[in-house]
Amino acid sequence: MSRFWNARVHQLHPYIPGEQPRGDDVVKLNTNELPYGPSPRAIAAMRDACDDSLRLYPDPTAQDLRQAIGTRFDMPIERVFVGNGSDEVLAHAFRALVAQDAPMLFADVSYGFYPVYCQLFDQPFREIPLNGAFEIDIDGYDIPCGGIAIANPNANTGHAVSLDAIARLARMQPDRTIIIDEAYVDFGAHSAIPLTQHYDNLLVVQTLSKSHGLAGLRVGYAIGHPDLIEGMTRVKDSFNSYPLSRIAQKGAAAAIADTAWLAQVTERVKRTRARFVGRIEALGFDILPSCANFVLVRHPDRDAGALLDGLREQHMIVRQLSAPRIRDWLRISIGTDQEMDRLVETLEALGI
Ligand SMILES: *Cc1c(COP(=O)(O)O)cnc(C)c1O
Repeated sequence: MSRFWNARVHQLHPYIPGEQPRGDDVVKLNTNELPYGPSPRAIAAMRDACDDSLRLYPDPTAQDLRQAIGTRFDMPIERVFVGNGSDEVLAHAFRALVAQDAPMLFADVSYGFYPVYCQLFDQPFREIPLNGAFEIDIDGYDIPCGGIAIANPNANTGHAVSLDAIARLARMQPDRTIIIDEAYVDFGAHSAIPLTQHYDNLLVVQTLSKSHGLAGLRVGYAIGHPDLIEGMTRVKDSFNSYPLSRIAQKGAAAAIADTAWLAQVTERVKRTRARFVGRIEALGFDILPSCANFVLVRHPDRDAGALLDGLREQHMIVRQLSAPRIRDWLRISIGTDQEMDRLVETLEALGI
């Protein structure tokens, strides 16, 4: 509290990011980062970018990076937007493409930033409950709204909806923007990017933070009809003309182009996920089927908060989320096989 804060700041409830502990004696399974370092080609490109050219501002339109993304997804550059992490891309999309005269819709269990942005932008919103199996129910979105955001796979549950369901949603709300947040898509779901050529109201957002092992670089992007991209660019250029550094633009372009590396690491994560699910099921945990690089788990006779504390004492960090329906679950990121084995052994030592 401060008398220097304006009324808006007094009323904010900011997003609470997962802890980034100092030191490296911690097994960090709380923020869905990749356990492997990024593509060596991305690192090399970033090293090359560290020269005297850094005295100059970066390209405000990020042409080369947008071209690399366009090439990868077979899209012209007019359909590509880039930003400082997909969080920023989502913020610009909420600001530019959602109508304020009706509530924006998203699931009651989804990415915690959606309600935070709505509040920051004075955007009314309504949360649509997941069904009893914690799945998104598309029919619940057939009501008047200002726009829709769907995380696919969904944040914190790992459940993915089909492309048929997304196409149906786009047809259900032809005059409203449907934002598909694909932060986890590379770990086992189908991307809606091809659908953006058929539905001018569909905006697909992706990030390099999870599957590309580049959370520290802060690069995200969106693909959609040129009118959507132009609207977001108007907001971006009214806020920060240079959100991506020269180093980030070069590194991200190289990372995006290295599809062989991506296939390899995502395959590894999927294998570790299957192996971990088997081991933790054997310990009696309930687990939601996940297409993402995390699993949501619950033990029928152990309190989630107590498990979280027990793990922390052994230097293992997982995440408990605040959404009421999943308060008694823990979200565990998929690390290396060794990290997941250590987690299972620590749970056993806690008497499970
Ligand atoms: C991690 C995450 C993001 C944010 O990604 P950044 O690109 O690191 O800002 C966006 N949406 C969902 C669903 C996420 O889990």
